Parts: sequence; C-alpha cells; structure tokens
Amino acid sequence: MSLQEGEKLGIRQFDIILITGDAYVDHPSFGTALIGRTLWDYGFSVGIIAQPQVKSPDAFKVLKTPRLFFGISSGNVDSMVNNYTPNLKRRGEDVYSPGGNLTRPDRATIVYANKVHELFPGVPIVIGGIEASLRRFAHYDYWQDRVRQSILADAPADLVVFGMGERQMGAIAQRMASGERVDTLRNIPGTVYAMEVAEWRRSRPEEIVEIPGFTEVSQDKSAYARAFALHYREQDPVHGRAVAQPHPKTVVIQNRPAHPLTQPELDRVYDLPYSRRAHPSYLQPVPALEPVQFSVTSHRGCFGACSFCALTHHQGRIIQSRSSDSIIREVRRMTKMPGFKGVVQDVGGPTANMYGLSCDLWGTAGACVDKRCSPSCKNLRASHGEQCSLLSVIRGIPGVKHVFISSGIRYDLALADDSGYLGMICDHHISGHLKVAPEHIAWKVTRIMNKPDQEVFDQFCAQFETLQQGRKKRQYLLPYFMSGHPGCTIPDMIALAVYIRDHNLYTEQVQDFTPTPMSVSSCMYYTGFNPFTMEPVHVPRGQEKKIQRSLMHYRDPANQVLIREGLTAAGRTDLIGRGKHCLVPEGGRFSGRYVGKKPEIPKNAKIP
Ligand code: SF4
Repeated sequence: MSLQEGEKLGIRQFDIILITGDAYVDHPSFGTALIGRTLWDYGFSVGIIAQPQVKSPDAFKVLKTPRLFFGISSGNVDSMVNNYTPNLKRRGEDVYSPGGNLTRPDRATIVYANKVHELFPGVPIVIGGIEASLRRFAHYDYWQDRVRQSILADAPADLVVFGMGERQMGAIAQRMASGERVDTLRNIPGTVYAMEVAEWRRSRPEEIVEIPGFTEVSQDKSAYARAFALHYREQDPVHGRAVAQPHPKTVVIQNRPAHPLTQPELDRVYDLPYSRRAHPSYLQPVPALEPVQFSVTSHRGCFGACSFCALTHHQGRIIQSRSSDSIIREVRRMTKMPGFKGVVQDVGGPTANMYGLSCDLWGTAGACVDKRCSPSCKNLRASHGEQCSLLSVIRGIPGVKHVFISSGIRYDLALADDSGYLGMICDHHISGHLKVAPEHIAWKVTRIMNKPDQEVFDQFCAQFETLQQGRKKRQYLLPYFMSGHPGCTIPDMIALAVYIRDHNLYTEQVQDFTPTPMSVSSCMYYTGFNPFTMEPVHVPRGQEKKIQRSLMHYRDPANQVLIREGLTAAGRTDLIGRGKHCLVPEGGRFSGRYVGKKPEIPKNAKIP
C-alpha cells in the first residue's frame, strides 16, 4: 500500500495498481485480496490503493503509475447498496472501513475511474467487482429510479471484468505484459468492452446475441424485460454466447462468461498466504472482518437462482467446490494464527450445503436454461456425504473447538440428503439457531421468487423438530422472510403474518425487498413483467409496500395503524380485535391512502 513497502520487496514500479472502496483486508473473503494475491501468484507486482479521498489527487498518485493497468472496484458491495438503506436513507456506518467511517463515494467505480483517467491519461483502466459486474448492461437503478446505461458507457474504462475475476485478470495482465494493447483484448471470456457504432456496423462479430439497446429499454418496459430475459439465458460459461447492447455512442459487448476455476485452480487461489488481517496501517478495526476472520469458503456458485439475488449473474449456477484437502490445510493454517480461539466461524459459500453437489451436464453442456436445478432433477447429485466427511475431519483438527455453519442452508436440499447432514449440523455445527430462508409461504410469491413452496418448508420444520427431541439445549430455526416482493399482495402478506402467528416464529430477520442491480426481481419491479413469461406482475409500491412491511412486524404496536389499514382494505377485519387469533386490536384511524389498487401495468406495454 506504499512505495516503501514496495521498495522492501525490490519493486520500483508496480505492474498493476488496484483501487478499491473497501479498506485493504488481506483475507480471501475480500475481493481485492483475492485478485491481488492471484495476480502476485501469476508473477505480477500489485500495489493497492484503498479508499482514496476523491478530492485529493495525491491519494491516487501515491503508488505512481502502473506498468500495465489500473484495476478499479467499488469493493465487496455495490456502493449504492452500501451507502443507503432500502428506504434510501444514508447509512451511518460503512462496515468495510476502519472504525466504520464513511469514505466510499456513491458510484465509487465511476468516480475512481474518472479520477484515474484525469490524472493518468492513456493508462489502461479495467473495472470489476460486484458493482461493475452487475451494471454491465443498461440497468434499472433504484436510487435514481431510472434506467442507467452500462457502466462502461459512464466510466472511462477499457474493460469490465464480470463474475469472479481471477481468470480474466490473469489473462489481461499476461497479454498486456506480452505487448498486446488493451483495446485489442476483445476475446477474453468474462469481460465486456465497448465498440464504436461505425465499427459495429462495419464488422459486427459473428454469433452474437443482440438485445434491445439502451434507448429502447429506457423508454419501453417490455423491451427492458425482453432484453433481460435474453442476456439472462447467456450467462453460462459453456453454452452462453456473446451479447451486444447498442448504446447512444457505442455498442457494449459482453463476451461469454469465463469458465469457473477448476478444483486445483480454486485450491491454489485459497492456498495463497493471506494473513487474514487488515493492513497494519489501520488504527481502528474493520467491522466486516470480525464475523469472517476465521471462516472458510468451501465453494462458489449457487444453483438456487432465487429471483431477488443477482448471484446467478455473478458467480453462476455451477458449483465449484474446493478439495477437502485444501480446506483442511486452510483450517490448520488458521489454528496457528494470532487471535484464533478455536472457533471456525463458518464453512460455506453462497449456500452452505451446496458443497460437493454436482451435475454431469455442468461440465459438458452447462446448466439447463429452461429447468431449475433442484432435488427433483434426477441428474443432481444431492447427497451431502462429502460435506459430512469434511466437517467431521475439521472438527478433529488439533486446536479446533467448534466449527459453525453460519451461511444459510437450502432446506429442500437438506431434506433430499441421505447422509444424515441435518442431524450432524444440529449435533455439532449450530449454536442455538439455524438460518433458513423460506422468504414467503404464499405459493404464487414463492414461485415468482423461485423458492420452494410452503409444504417443503413445513416438512423441513417437522424434521428439525424431530431432531430436537431428547436434546438438552433446544435449538431454533431462524427463518428469513421478505415483504414487498413483486407478485406479493396484501392478502399474501396477511397469510404470511397468520403463518408466523400460528407457528410462533421469530420475525426479526425480515427484509423489505430492495431492487438491486440485475436481479430478476429488480427487472419485475421496474417493468411490472415476469421477463421469462412476459406476464404482468403486481408490484407493491409506496403505501402498500409500507403496509406489507408492517404486517411482518404485526407484534410491534407502532405498526397497528398501517396493519388495520391493510386488513380493512383486504376485507380481513376478522383479524382486528381482542381475540387470540387477531393480529391487531381495534382502535385508531387509518390514512385511507391504500385502497387496494389494481396491479400496475405500464401504459406503453407491448405484450407479445
Ligand atoms: S440436469 Fe438438472 S441439475 Fe443438471 S443443470 Fe439441468 S436442471 Fe440442473
């Protein structure tokens, strides 16, 4: 992070300088550390500028000019998600900063790229990380409530790296080191580049899927939904094709996604010598490090493809598992590190119990486009045997007292398992609570969310209860629910509140739906269409969204006015009163602002 540190390592000029909106934490859960260490492993020297003050040119010049390029990212999280609450209020803390201090600018990738372009004209700029990756096409931006152009049209960058970036960054660095110019790097899978419109007209690449352009999708919601469905189909490294989207000044071209790392490659990335600590120059702790400092990433990818999660567009559906030897080596290393107190905080990935699961098609044909990977597919090898063996070995490592599973588990998979996974984690790997995410219980909402139906959750709860019998200390399920999701109506939320009441569930883990870039649900929120069927979808907004959220917290007296309003509008006054079954007592007045509006269908909608 400084020239002095570089000089100690014999470095006079860094090959690559990474700029990030996060503090620099040398831990594999932090993208900058993963990319920095991987590039180092490829043989390049890497300098890191963490959280530069935008108003200070010196902050960007501190490591001088890189020999090859600048790599810029907003950090582990989209800067707008990081800086604002779902209600669009500015957050008071940034957990990726020392002391939680607020230093990250809004739209950090664009801001940093502009600054670098101004201070280092002509030096190549590559942008990546979650913010750039999920804004690679024209996209709905919740914070401005409008469609923005691809980030490549807004930021003066040469390339966008999308998805997990080790392979792409290695290829860019190697090709530039061998003398190729950045503007000739147009065939690296997992990257996006911009082509001049005249060149596009002259020599349009073959086998490319052209989707409706920015002008069209920003004016016509059905065109936006069609564009989304078209690029969604191409996000597979095996069968995905390049995708082009015209913009006013350029055509933005996404190459097909990069192949996931093979198991030996993934092992190598996680075997690198991370110190698992924040940079020693920081005087205050980085809050985001504490919960993950001694956790282990066992795999990448998630085939759940929940509609509100953009992970399918980033890590993909194909599960990439590390070898158990590599994970065990990492835990052994951790036991010798300062601060380790015998607790492995997590062994997981996006969904903890997808480790080691596979389908033969993933390697040869990619993940099915029109089918959901679920236990009902006979090709999915859903046994959790490999996970059980791994966890039992980790438990036996000298110095390890507890091994927790803190990542959420997919309960439909746990139910399909035949190796005793659920019993094992209840016995050894959860303290008092197990996180699960049914998100809703109304079938038409769970279908739109791409989550299992209520019956599956009920079966899981029953199995969990059976496992509690005879246990000295009772354990509890911690279900996550969501209000305000597209497709969810007030009667659906009332059904959920009644379910919560009848099952005496704890409902602190409630999210109000936030449309983050490039998720299927965000597309529905903006357009009012299911992009895969083009059927209209009801989108709760404004007062209705507030009522839905209040229904989740019906026990909170502060919500009673809104809840009475919702129950009255839905004709469920039977739930108002003093009876045990009632959600709220009588009394008070309601604003009358919500009157059960019909689903909003855009005026200029074209339904094919
Ligand atoms: S065959 Fe089944 S498990 Fe394999 S990719 Fe298709 S849906 Fe998924």
